[in-house]
Amino acid sequence: MIVTLAGHVDHGKTAIVKALTGVDTDRLEEEQARGLTIDLGFAYTNINDHRIGFVDVPGHHSFIHNMIAGVASMQHALLVVAADDGVMPQTEEHLQILQLLGIEQGTVVLNKVDHVDKSQLEQMVLQLRNFLQHTFLRNAPIVEASALTGIGIETLRDSLSNRMSQLEKNLCPRAFRLAIDRVFAKQGLGTVVTGTVYDGEIRVGDDVYLSSIQKKVRVRRIVANGLPVEVAYTGDRCGAQIAGVHSNEVSRGDWLRDPESVFATDTLTVQFELASGFPRDIKNWCSVHVYHGTSHRLGKLFVLDSIEDHGTNGIVDLVVPEPLHVAIGDRIIVRDQSLERTMGGGIVIATTAPTTRRRLPARIQRLRDFTTVASSDSPQQALIQSSKTSCVNGDDFRLQWNLTLDQFRSFIDRNTIQQVNNRFLAKSAMEIVRKEICSTLDEYHKTHSHEFGLTIKQLAKKTARDLETLRFVLKYGQNTGQFHTKAGQYAIASRSDVTVSYNKDLYRNLVPLIDTQQPLPVGDIARELKVPLGILENELKRMLKAKLFVQVSEKRFFTGKRLQELAEIAGALDKSGPFSVKQFRDQSGMGRMICIDVLEYFDKVRYTQREADSRRVVGKFDP
Ligand code: GDP
Ligand code: MG
Repeated sequence: MIVTLAGHVDHGKTAIVKALTGVDTDRLEEEQARGLTIDLGFAYTNINDHRIGFVDVPGHHSFIHNMIAGVASMQHALLVVAADDGVMPQTEEHLQILQLLGIEQGTVVLNKVDHVDKSQLEQMVLQLRNFLQHTFLRNAPIVEASALTGIGIETLRDSLSNRMSQLEKNLCPRAFRLAIDRVFAKQGLGTVVTGTVYDGEIRVGDDVYLSSIQKKVRVRRIVANGLPVEVAYTGDRCGAQIAGVHSNEVSRGDWLRDPESVFATDTLTVQFELASGFPRDIKNWCSVHVYHGTSHRLGKLFVLDSIEDHGTNGIVDLVVPEPLHVAIGDRIIVRDQSLERTMGGGIVIATTAPTTRRRLPARIQRLRDFTTVASSDSPQQALIQSSKTSCVNGDDFRLQWNLTLDQFRSFIDRNTIQQVNNRFLAKSAMEIVRKEICSTLDEYHKTHSHEFGLTIKQLAKKTARDLETLRFVLKYGQNTGQFHTKAGQYAIASRSDVTVSYNKDLYRNLVPLIDTQQPLPVGDIARELKVPLGILENELKRMLKAKLFVQVSEKRFFTGKRLQELAEIAGALDKSGPFSVKQFRDQSGMGRMICIDVLEYFDKVRYTQREADSRRVVGKFDP
């Protein structure tokens, strides 16, 4: 377990750590600077078989810059308050940051009790309880102690050991990520980085991605919680000796990551909690410091919905000049640049944002709906929820949640989620969208019997669905034979050529009678082929659906090819002005009646337009 020290300067944080572990954390830095130790700058001790690491902030460092960039849910806060001084500004600030980081449990030490009398002590306990009332430490034990005399140190030790077992959490497995907080060159060892394993695990011999050089480096040796190990796990304080990089190519704020799961973004959306007592209204595009893990960026903040008083959650977009290696569910701290004070913080709920129309109500609603699941450490739930409204790109999702391919695959619930290629959509959503597409196409087919169908863009307009989701459902529908596509248009399959069955023998006999310069009318065909007229008409209907012929008038059928030729004849005539039936008859070599049928058909499909006794070509012909 990692215990993070917090409290006002000189209240005795370092003294408490020393009393518990025997290690003077203020001196570790000097030792490290002189290369005397590869200790991680943290103090470790065993309490009742539990290994506990204490993270102290050296006296002259600011807490925010050095706060432990660890897994909040696996940290325990130790707030030190001097009994002779009480709650001071940094006590408040540190506690606020721990709270915004999402740390959930802790212990309070009322130190320097040797400096106060009994009534002062009682008063101080009351003041403390009152101060802690609205924080995550409201029910934390308050241990009265003195680092100087040793009073209460055993009680503190027991108290910590009791809390230890409660901290073991089952976190959802993720891809490896380590936030680097220190780097040094160690003679004979090369480059050593230290940090907290944020996600996953790291092994000796692994090739890991180093964000600063964007390359893989080999892990040679690992020290976790002060001891050499083969593997370090989520939440462990860890030192890693890495090969293939010079120490000046790495610095605090860089990451070691699983090379298959690297993702960084310069735009993120955060469910934002305003720091209590923050004195100003927040302006759009205000300049802020953004802290994530051990990384720090100057950035801009955009308010998406109202952030009122503290305790109220709002949603903000953050834009930073250099990408951050965030994942959904991570914690972020934001400080005001001009005030140099903590503005607030929260949980990353999205890692992409539009650059315009950020406040679109539909977007805000979607983000609001997503906040619970984003903070729940359940990518599985998140996939179910996201795929209920639109289709999810598997690669994007996996990277945004920092999952390995295997981890991602393992939680896809095939009963509720449909996959096409690497896209995912909830089966319930698929059914809804499928019905929308069907009724839209149905409607269209009814009114446009000569057209094949609709393009995906036309469908998007009519259904108000996004292109990706439509593509997904159409693709699935195509695979299952429900929709057909031709030249970028989609149609309901039952209506289009492929599934229409017709009498192939009859068709073969029909071709010579229809595919000629002047096709016979149906009555003549029936007589010629000795087929009852009713049966012939029925079969012809099927062949029309299969687009084998085109019906020009009640009695006349043509091939598309011959109609195209006739259309070209009309087109040529039209070049020298409006043309008459007679001109068309002479050019086509067909009888007058059949010419009138064809020209009237051309009028109907808006290829030609009749003006008194002549016609003009007014459109394009598409049989
Ligand atoms: P930090 O800034 O919170 O790390 O505080 P330090 O641990 O450096 O302590 C600040 C000063 O308070 C040092 O001079 C300590 O010796 C002293 N101090 C720490 N704990 C106690 C205590 O319990 N009683 C008394 N009388 N002095 C203490
Ligand atoms: Mg100190």
